[in-house]
Amino acid sequence: MAIPKVLIIGGGPAGCAIGIELLAQGITPILLEKKGKDKNKLCGGLITNRGIRQLELLKIPLNPSIFFNTSQVRFYNCGEKILDYQSSKGFFCVRRQAFDNLLQEEYTSRGGILSLNSPVISIDQRKQLVTTSNGTSYDYDFLIGADGVNGLSSRATNPNPPKPALCLEVFVPKSNGLDGINVIFGVVQKGFSWCFENDNSIGIGLGAIDYGSYQDLKQSYELLLQTHGKSIEGTPKPRAALVPYSGRNRTIAQNKIILVGDAAGFVDPILGEGISYALESGRLAARAIVAPKPIEAYKKSVSFLSRRIQAGLRMRKLFFNPTINKFVLNEFRKHPGRTAHICDNLVLDGSIGYEDLLGMIKLAIGRR
Ligand SMILES: Cc1cc2nc3c(=O)[nH]c(=O)nc-3n(C[C@H](O)[C@H](O)[C@H](O)COP(=O)(O)OP(=O)(O)OC[C@H]3O[C@@H](n4cnc5c(N)ncnc54)[C@H](O)[C@@H]3O)c2cc1C
Repeated sequence: MAIPKVLIIGGGPAGCAIGIELLAQGITPILLEKKGKDKNKLCGGLITNRGIRQLELLKIPLNPSIFFNTSQVRFYNCGEKILDYQSSKGFFCVRRQAFDNLLQEEYTSRGGILSLNSPVISIDQRKQLVTTSNGTSYDYDFLIGADGVNGLSSRATNPNPPKPALCLEVFVPKSNGLDGINVIFGVVQKGFSWCFENDNSIGIGLGAIDYGSYQDLKQSYELLLQTHGKSIEGTPKPRAALVPYSGRNRTIAQNKIILVGDAAGFVDPILGEGISYALESGRLAARAIVAPKPIEAYKKSVSFLSRRIQAGLRMRKLFFNPTINKFVLNEFRKHPGRTAHICDNLVLDGSIGYEDLLGMIKLAIGRR
């Protein structure tokens, strides 16, 4: 069988994962990334056990200078601390620039071709040709869309994409009282806020699906800083970014184009966790490309991710219902041991799924 020419758009976790896995399969792809090494991507950088398993499968070294290990977890609701515990699960926080650079370096050191500062400006699906802003054209047998939430490749296959969630985030120096992983409810509706500690700073952010206007979300951000960033001087200006947090099904593969990561909408619909999904879908796409029918093989291999996301969407409808949300968070407060178990196994480890959590909630409601 002739070795297919694979072109990847986007050098984030999804693009690097597929690149690294393709190299392991004997295929040398070309990866086009629009930014240089000094990109400053907005992201909480929390990597759960799910993501760590993917990194191990890709043989990425968990270098302590990049992977900051923390186990302190706190939940808040409307300013009140409802849970504070040391997790038994190992998880990491990274600064995205360093993390993405590491993945790109792993990809190139294993023989991958990477072209930085190469924004793709057009995709000709009929001619199977991609052109970058500097005028270079590349033909392909398979095009991998790893260009994120609002990228050209997902727009080529999904002309009417579902509305993404909007996030605001700021990074501040480490200061007293802000450490570990803090998940904060009650600041935004249909979303949540976070303070995540990495090796040299704290990322404070929030994201929501129905956020009204940008100004409404900014007011929520100011409230977040008042409650959880009291020791921070001034009101640092947040930056905004999108997460494909919405539910509607997308076309994830067609006409020699395969979407991975955010471009495919693979993000946890409640937590917004996307790094592990990006790594996993990238890895699976590389395996599908060497199958007899790559497009079909890919759709089949990621169907479990789509099912997980669909269950999460049902859970989200319940969780963001104000009455149910109040009840659930109250249950969290009353039963810290059970909540820590759910957090460790659902959020941080992935060993229980949203389906299981739905069952637990039904049981809890039935007992009342
Ligand atoms: C504020 C915020 C906080 C988050 N926090 C977390 C978290 O704590 N944990 C977690 O797991 N997830 C988090 N996420 C989600 C996570 O960042 C994404 O799911 C993840 O980055 C997806 O990886 P990706 O490779 O699919 O896309 P991206 O990381 O977006 O990478 C896409 C790449 O494509 C490049 N690109 C785009 N267009 C072009 C083009 N035309 N030509 C060439 N290159 C192009 C971009 O420069 C980029 O490098 C967060 C997201 C946001 C916005």
